[in-house]
Amino acid sequence: MKDTLKHRGMRNQLANILIAKGIKDQKVLDAVRTIPRHLFMDSSFEGHAYQDKAFPIAAEQTISQPYTVAFQTELLNIRPNQKILEIGTGSGYQTAILIYLKTKVFTIERQLTLFKKTNIFFKKMGYRPKKFIFGDGYKGLSEEAPFDGIIVTAGAPEVPKALMSQLKIGGRLVIPVGIDEQIMTVYQRKSEKEFEKKEYGSFRFVPLLEDKN
Ligand code: SAH
Repeated sequence: MKDTLKHRGMRNQLANILIAKGIKDQKVLDAVRTIPRHLFMDSSFEGHAYQDKAFPIAAEQTISQPYTVAFQTELLNIRPNQKILEIGTGSGYQTAILIYLKTKVFTIERQLTLFKKTNIFFKKMGYRPKKFIFGDGYKGLSEEAPFDGIIVTAGAPEVPKALMSQLKIGGRLVIPVGIDEQIMTVYQRKSEKEFEKKEYGSFRFVPLLEDKN
């Protein structure tokens, strides 16, 4: 598959849809206009890549809906050079958006098939997260903490404590919390012990699974 002018045109239209749905961050919209989402998906879904919809990837997982990716990225409120931890690499589309925004991305995926597939894809495309880890994101990544931002792209039954503790003061954790349906929740760390919590409406994600071993 290639990236063509036609794809670029469709990305511009997608960005317009996201603007109509309330996305305002110009850098995030530029990322959507730039990153070739169709290349992160199975070729059989290529024709649908620029609809504002989630689609199956491998291992019963999904590439998140573009609106959700844009909204979560906007909530992170990132600046270049910040350290961002992503839980749930999946197709790598969200990762590529974070890299486009010039952040240092540490990303964790627990499905081995997806990890391998996306690892090859990143190399082929020249996307360079600081680290791409096969493991359980529930625990975060203490050796690289603290982070300016942590983004969870799977539905968490509860907020993993490790992730809260790995935030810088001022940093934000953007996490969909809930079982059947998730409330998009942002925790901003105000001090060692205090967090400010804000909620932003309901979404549907595949579950964040904890490895209990
Ligand atoms: N941002 C991705 C979303 C993929 S869906 C994209 O748009 O493509 C969520 C991903 O979270 C899945 O790939 C799933 O395997 C992964 N996941 C679930 N529980 C996890 C955990 N505990 N640690 C790391 N990844 C996890």
